[in-house]
Amino acid sequence: MNRMNSVFARISMFAEGIYGSKRGEVSEFGTKPYLTAMAFAGGHDLRGPVVSAFFSEVERQCQGNPRICLSKEEESFRSQVVHPISMVNPNFVVLAVSAEVSEDLPLLLSHELWHAAFFLNDGYRASVYAYWKTLQAQEQARIRKALSATYDSSDEELMVNEFQAHLLQKDGHESILAAFHARHFPKLKKIADKLRIKF
Ligand SMILES: [Zn+2]
Repeated sequence: MNRMNSVFARISMFAEGIYGSKRGEVSEFGTKPYLTAMAFAGGHDLRGPVVSAFFSEVERQCQGNPRICLSKEEESFRSQVVHPISMVNPNFVVLAVSAEVSEDLPLLLSHELWHAAFFLNDGYRASVYAYWKTLQAQEQARIRKALSATYDSSDEELMVNEFQAHLLQKDGHESILAAFHARHFPKLKKIADKLRIKF
């Protein structure tokens, strides 16, 4: 069992609707999207408010459906990490990468760091959005399609966030958005450089 994913798989499914799960719904263990996330998710990026919403939703549903209750791993993450951090600042971001899924940790980590920049730096997020809006509808649709195998393509913010993370990550020219790298990497890099963001 992947140790990282035993903590984060259900929370990312709730946050993003990954691997065919439903965003905003708490999954039971053992479903197809859950097992896929357990096997293939190499990293996670989660905003504090979404993590807290996941735990509240599990608490609400757990009595009526014990199969949904927190696992031991999720429970220790809640009590040892989320609870103490929330007391200081509820707007934290949690990043995780797994050496069990990929040997290229710098690549995974760079991808997740771009997500953190997108979440935490309002100016960067606004500039990336502004750039995304300059793309033609057809180009946006092609990018959405390339991302749709892994991500919920109806989630516009997730699309924009994954667009920048895959292109700016280490070796973005080999990412699932490789076909779009030559066209969009220079512009995104310029936005990041202007704000002095680099990893
Ligand atoms: Zn991502």
